[in-house]
Amino acid sequence: MIIIIGAGISGLSLSYFLSSFGIKNLVIEVKKDVGIKHRSTCLVSSKIFRLLKFLDRNIILKNYRVANFWYENKKIFSVKSKKEMFLLDYLQLEKEIFNNIDKTFSNFLFGETVLDVDFDKNILITNKREIKFEYIIDATGTFSFLANKFNLFKFKKIFNSFEILAITKKKFEDINIFFDKKISKTKFGWYIDLNGKSLIGLIDQKLDFQKFSNFIKKFKIVKTYYSYSHPILYCELKKLQLKNSLIIGEAAGLIKPFSLGGITYGIISSYIAAKTIKNNEIEKYENKIRKIFLKPIILGKFADKVLKYKVFLQTIYFLKLNNLSNFLDPDFMNINI
Ligand SMILES: Cc1cc2nc3c(=O)[nH]c(=O)nc-3n(C[C@H](O)[C@H](O)[C@H](O)COP(=O)(O)OP(=O)(O)OC[C@H]3O[C@@H](n4cnc5c(N)ncnc54)[C@H](O)[C@@H]3O)c2cc1C
Repeated sequence: MIIIIGAGISGLSLSYFLSSFGIKNLVIEVKKDVGIKHRSTCLVSSKIFRLLKFLDRNIILKNYRVANFWYENKKIFSVKSKKEMFLLDYLQLEKEIFNNIDKTFSNFLFGETVLDVDFDKNILITNKREIKFEYIIDATGTFSFLANKFNLFKFKKIFNSFEILAITKKKFEDINIFFDKKISKTKFGWYIDLNGKSLIGLIDQKLDFQKFSNFIKKFKIVKTYYSYSHPILYCELKKLQLKNSLIIGEAAGLIKPFSLGGITYGIISSYIAAKTIKNNEIEKYENKIRKIFLKPIILGKFADKVLKYKVFLQTIYFLKLNNLSNFLDPDFMNINI
């Protein structure tokens, strides 16, 4: 039995790919269902439609080409990208993937937590039972179950985020990224226009609700529809696979160092995991992942270091380095997977 721990975007996608190959799998998820708990904004490239071919374009809430960059309350430039970014409904996306999984091959245990794993006996222990496994796939996102259990971290940072969907008096078009050391020392805030409403968020390593309240004051909130907070794991692992097990998605550190976007990376890694399982070559998973993600992660680390400073932001803009992401970021470039 192949056991997937976690039914987030990565675990669900893996279950979808495995079931489409006719491979039996069991997904164990601590939450009671899919599509019930807000997780994040869902700004993705068109690659998601190539990876999840069943996805209907109705899932797009809005598309964007322009991003405005702000530095301490001043707009310093706008970038018009050749490629569109799409804002999707995250909960709907989870439900769509779940509904397209062939349930003759995939089973789900909701409301159950994986507590431990015994690799000598090939047994996985949940709060309710013990299950014999052939392979385990860790798709536990921020919890990074196997990396924590076996201390696989080269480094590990936990960011926190707050986000609201709101109507505001002060309006901004398209996507807006705000850099200001007073609101976020290590990352940034964002305001994404959504046809009259807006998604407003803030990420930082040390973030509390008070800082978020101060940040959203400038938009003059009229009405809030929902708000939530979620930690984000940014890490690099020494290994992405152990005996009979693979780590995918955010749990494997597969997110962009600068923006911390991880949705498409999670889906790509789940596709590669499914392919290597299908071809009986799971030992090749780690190499394949490192080959695809090495360049973007190096580029991302560089961007993360410099993009907090106005002078670098402007230099990057003049060098049009953003176009380079079309060649270096698996979200945009053509990759052979
Ligand atoms: C505010 C915010 C904004 C973001 N914006 C974007 C964006 O615009 N674009 C983008 O690409 N990315 C974005 N991201 C990042 C993106 O949301 C994540 O990288 C992605 O959702 C990770 O998916 P995942 O399936 O790997 O992990 P998760 O979504 O974290 O799923 C892990 C699942 O495992 C379950 N689980 C954990 N431990 C156990 C256990 N022991 N037993 C059973 N179940 C368990 C959890 O309940 C969860 O359902 C954002 C993140 C945040 C917080």
